[in-house]
Amino acid sequence: MLQLKNIVKTYVTGDMKQDALKGVSISFRENEFVSILGQSGSGKTTMLNIIGGLDRYTSGDLVINGVSTKEYKDADWDFYRNNSIGFVFQSYNLIPHQSVLANVEMALTLAGVSKKERKQRAVSVLKKVGLGDHIHKKPNQMSGGQMQRVAIARALVNNPDILLADEPTGALDSETSIQIMELLKEIAKDKLVIMVTHNPELAEKYSTRIVKLLDGRIVNDTNPYSEKEEQVQKIKHKKISMSFFTALSLSFNNLRTKKGRTLLTSFAGSIGIIGIALILALSTGMNAYIADVQKDTMASYPITISDETIDVSSVMGMRGEVIGEMRGENKTETENRTGVFADYKEIETSEKISSSIVENNLTEFKKYLDNPDSEIQQYLGENGIVYTYDVNFSVYSHDADGKLIDSDSEVGDTASPMAGSNGKVEIMNKLNGSAALGGGSSSGAANFSELMAGLDGKTASQVITDSYDVLYGTWPEEYNEIILVLNENNGISAGTLYQLGLITEEQYEAAVEKIENGEDADEISFAYEDICGHTFYLVPACDHYIENENGTFTHIDDITLNEEDLLANAVELKITGIIRPKEDAQNASISTAVAYTSKLTDYVITHTDESAVIKAQEADREINVLTGMEFESTDDEAKANDAKEYLSSLGISEKASFYKLMMYYASSHSETNNAGTSQNGMAAGNGAMDETTMAAALDRWLAGEPDQEILLKVYDEYIAGSTYQDNLKAFGKVSFDAPASISIYTDSFESKDAIAACIEKYNETATEETRITYTDYVAMLTSSITTIINGISYVLVAFVAISLIVSCIMIGIITHISVMERTKEIGILRALGASKRNISQVFNAETFIIGCCAGLLGIGVSLLALIPINSIIEKLSGLAELEAQLPITSSIVLITISILITIIGGLLPAKKAAKKDPVIALRTE
Ligand code: ADP
Ligand code: MG
Repeated sequence: MLQLKNIVKTYVTGDMKQDALKGVSISFRENEFVSILGQSGSGKTTMLNIIGGLDRYTSGDLVINGVSTKEYKDADWDFYRNNSIGFVFQSYNLIPHQSVLANVEMALTLAGVSKKERKQRAVSVLKKVGLGDHIHKKPNQMSGGQMQRVAIARALVNNPDILLADEPTGALDSETSIQIMELLKEIAKDKLVIMVTHNPELAEKYSTRIVKLLDGRIVNDTNPYSEKEEQVQKIKHKKISMSFFTALSLSFNNLRTKKGRTLLTSFAGSIGIIGIALILALSTGMNAYIADVQKDTMASYPITISDETIDVSSVMGMRGEVIGEMRGENKTETENRTGVFADYKEIETSEKISSSIVENNLTEFKKYLDNPDSEIQQYLGENGIVYTYDVNFSVYSHDADGKLIDSDSEVGDTASPMAGSNGKVEIMNKLNGSAALGGGSSSGAANFSELMAGLDGKTASQVITDSYDVLYGTWPEEYNEIILVLNENNGISAGTLYQLGLITEEQYEAAVEKIENGEDADEISFAYEDICGHTFYLVPACDHYIENENGTFTHIDDITLNEEDLLANAVELKITGIIRPKEDAQNASISTAVAYTSKLTDYVITHTDESAVIKAQEADREINVLTGMEFESTDDEAKANDAKEYLSSLGISEKASFYKLMMYYASSHSETNNAGTSQNGMAAGNGAMDETTMAAALDRWLAGEPDQEILLKVYDEYIAGSTYQDNLKAFGKVSFDAPASISIYTDSFESKDAIAACIEKYNETATEETRITYTDYVAMLTSSITTIINGISYVLVAFVAISLIVSCIMIGIITHISVMERTKEIGILRALGASKRNISQVFNAETFIIGCCAGLLGIGVSLLALIPINSIIEKLSGLAELEAQLPITSSIVLITISILITIIGGLLPAKKAAKKDPVIALRTE
């Protein structure tokens, strides 16, 4: 059944060639007990390894069951070893970390036998060799004889045809040797047993045939056998099969038996993962914090576009000059001047400022913003776009004495009805206001401002609600509801309290006096409930215009003149809640003592649209409803007539004051004026006249031949200049399409930059008139911060990348070492019939498990480490929001990376292990 034909084995080491076998020809019977004797180095082991398919012959042929092995592939040899051969070695070669049972089962495992059958067969063969009671022991808990019996059991478990034993008793005492020989003799009854031995007596006593080797040649054979020449058959390729799952469970059992070692390996592998996880957690925390800060910053500093603005870039250029001057840089040319020179710098500066005032067409821009297809939509933050309108109204309230107080004028304001005459100041106010939330309405709001509206129709934005504690009541919901804003000390400035009608003028003045005298003022306080009972009256600007009998309208400046009527129609505002900034609030930016909802703004706009004065003015665009005259008369004659008409329509006291005014004109023109004499006459009696007389005198003057020059002057001063638009503005007409300012909120600097780019794009396509100018204050503040943040992000990414590489190398080395360490095991597995693929499968399965463990361990350790790390960070930075955190997705990704790296790291060593010559592997200690 087994025939060696002129087998030659040549080992090549470097330049040296050594023939271990020099043409060995021999045939074996199906069952006999053959002993091979010979000096050390005569080629016994080599011959055995070739017979067992563990080593390859250089030339000749090995015929197995009539089949030549010349054409054998690796898989055929593996199958042959696994199915037909059982190996027994001098040094037992058991896998030390597996139980006796597992060792014996191994060959069956590799063959893909089911677990149940495996155990059954292993136990029965162990019973046969007399070890039925020791199946759960580890090899190192047994004697040499017992271990050799385990090795024999393992060799027999696959029920092979041939048992090969290389000096099986070489390490045993004579008594145990006899037991082993008895066992082999028993086996040889129905199998071919070929045993190498040094002991001729044992060979003599137990074997049925003795073959002597010398120098790679057979020199003696006591019972030669000549097989009749069989027809050499074609080979049939067969494979042993083991699934990856089997490999996995094999590796798992293997790892389970060496828990400590596995844990250490996993830990070593996990160090890299821990590094990445911690750096990732820190950078995630840092990024979250940066995003948070950005969001908070962007909530305080939206991109704000006002209908009128200063082109700050040109003013900024000017600032550079000023700084240069302070440093003395502009002196050079003028250093050697003598004499006194006029300096025009101030004039130039103020000219530059006034020429840098630009108007924005927000109506067009709003159309762009409202278009859902606009590119800008995707960059909007949580708070979106907030439009503010220049609504015009007054607020009044009664103080404790019942006196009516104007509650919404600026502190120390010397009531300037000539609004608009001081454009620059107004614009500066607007710029200041726009930097803060809620300060959008620029109607000279001193104590009242609009609350920043939130999403989904909420009256207060979350930015605001997050920044304030509600001390009493609730946030306002309706148009007639307002909220009172206290400072950190629950205070409201005394001046404001007075304006709001909460303390009387006497109380206020008494306090001022006491403080001036160095005393402490009386403490004044209110209960929340009491203060909420206070009522304010809101009178829209249009309601200040009262219709006269002749159809014109008169502006009532002093509300006390018509108090009952005005207050009857006014909106009664109720305080629904009282708020105070939170301790570390980022956006506690309500700058006034009272805040109203955007619903009130909407109400005032709609109410104004429907008011009589607006309707009357809109009905005839040519006639000024205040004077009943055309806005612009064409010639002097008409103008003089208009002036005449205007003057005669005035009331008595107004006529009187006009009369005084004309006295003044007349006297200043007396030298050159013909009418001088008569005027002087009027002037003489001036001091003694009362109002009625003066009014009568004016009427008389008008009835006569009034001086046209004076009439024209009156026209210019009091009638001309106002236009249809001016009037509508004065009446408080506001269109929803024309906001006074637009605030665009984003959540990050990046989105803000994108929005800036969108506006630039819009400007490129817009016409000259619709182009938008605005100042990106945040960019000025944050451009350097953004650079730093980007820098930090890159550094963090670099850290993560470095630790990833380090961890890769580390895991690779660890896997490599663990493979090296198990070279012997590879040899054993190969001897048992494991294919190269099986070997790499087993190792890959093992690295897979180690990768999993390393990943899980790494994440676990990192999560634990984050607890102290975070408390240290909080101590050092004092920032509760700055917290390192490991997101779940990152954790999963890291575990996957750990598995992948470990497998990749182990792939090469596993492949190398699989390629190892099993003979050399077995020789390694
Ligand atoms: P034995 O088992 O009879 O003591 P071996 O079969 O182990 O002898 O060795 C036969 C000869 O082949 C020896 O001279 C040994 O040095 C040589 N030999 C065995 N294996 C190798 C090898 N892997 N490389 C080189 N020479 C080898
Ligand atoms: Mg040997």
